[in-house]
Amino acid sequence: MLGGRLTGILVLITMFFTASCSTAGRVQPESVKQAAGIPKYIFYFIGDGMGMAHVKIADAVLEDDQVLWMTTLPVSGMASTHAENRYITGSAAAGTALATGRKTTIGTIAKNGNHSENLKTIAEMSRDNGMRVGIVSSVSIDHATPACFYAHADNRSMYSDIAVQMASSGFDYFGGGYARADLEDGKPLGKLITIMQDSGYNVIRGWEALGKAVPGQKYWAFENFDGSGALEYAIDRAPDDLTLADFTRNGIRLLDNDQGFFLMVEGGKIDWASHANDAATVAHEVVDFDLAIAEALEFYHEHPAETLIVVTADHECGGLALGYADKAYESDIGLLLSQKLSAQVFAGKVAQWTERKNVSFSMALDSAKVYFGLGNVQLDSALVLTSEEKMALRQAYTASMTGQNVGQKYGEGDPLTVSLTKLLNHKAGIGWTTGKHTALPVPVFAIGQGAREFCGIYDNTDIAKKIIKVAELQP
Ligand SMILES: [Zn+2]
Repeated sequence: MLGGRLTGILVLITMFFTASCSTAGRVQPESVKQAAGIPKYIFYFIGDGMGMAHVKIADAVLEDDQVLWMTTLPVSGMASTHAENRYITGSAAAGTALATGRKTTIGTIAKNGNHSENLKTIAEMSRDNGMRVGIVSSVSIDHATPACFYAHADNRSMYSDIAVQMASSGFDYFGGGYARADLEDGKPLGKLITIMQDSGYNVIRGWEALGKAVPGQKYWAFENFDGSGALEYAIDRAPDDLTLADFTRNGIRLLDNDQGFFLMVEGGKIDWASHANDAATVAHEVVDFDLAIAEALEFYHEHPAETLIVVTADHECGGLALGYADKAYESDIGLLLSQKLSAQVFAGKVAQWTERKNVSFSMALDSAKVYFGLGNVQLDSALVLTSEEKMALRQAYTASMTGQNVGQKYGEGDPLTVSLTKLLNHKAGIGWTTGKHTALPVPVFAIGQGAREFCGIYDNTDIAKKIIKVAELQP
């Protein structure tokens, strides 16, 4: 993969002169002159909760000479994210802005702020333009961000109302997570599957079925999911589970046709790991999201004059900072590699210990060593646990064993899980200011036909407006 990544970078550096933010006065290569026209293959990648620090923290997982594909795109910009009625936005209001070009209120899915009007989404405009449409997400397919492209609802929590609108959307491909609307105690009810089948969709699960899917037919494809319908975190995933990149690659295969397509892909759990202040899991999620972008770039290289790829985020989450007060100017983000599972999965283990009362503090410290590297000085001397740190962990352990929860002010989960995650983050030189979103502007990266529009600093509503403009979609 490394070789492919570097080769890709060289090709992209060559492409820099075709669409960068600073081409004024440069002699443009011949390929640019041939490239006039409108993009008919549109990719829209949304990293939920992904601020610039989240992009940078992927360094913890990448090899020294690797960079993220998204950061090699020749055009970059920045977007403000506020909602109509709140400075710090949420995924529904931000998703609506990204999908429709209009501001709305917190919690609203593709409707105006007072819910008197449905707002047409770029996915619907693309469908009405004769293009095929695909919606892919690593969280449940009726979650706020994907919903903003195919549904209209007063509130994101109206999962049943949202999910049935998949069936009436006429879109060609839904891929990734299951539907939260159709889950009871984490198990699928199957009602939505019937509704989708009655509307002409093939409902499929897993590798083999997705590989056999045939272009021209409609699909809802999903994979092993957690209790909320989301795919597992990249850090926790089984080796043969379908990934966001797999759903993207197959989406491209199913959607590709002469009339063009629109494909939205959301990396939804970057946000979830950030709510949990779980930096290692964030780093793995960002790389996983980036590998989906690599699939689009491969398609771009086959159709450079007809393809537009836009990568952005709906908002920042966690107030992630690549510096921590106790470390002064020191940082060691590579320490994050010593974490072997998400804080969420570890919290599940701690919940079992609490219930069974069968794990002592020293056993808990053994687990801290295995799953977070903490105390494993053979791995790295920086992972040593001081007596103060052990004392703080003992207090957290006792609190967890008595069923206490830290709430969501800083991180999420039981005190021991939060303390271990935080301790590793701090040793790595990473800080968080909140367990919620922030108003920090988000990055925008673009390549391809019309990409130059995305230079500069603008509002999140402008991203959708720019796509509508360059693709000549009818609002
Ligand atoms: Zn969030």
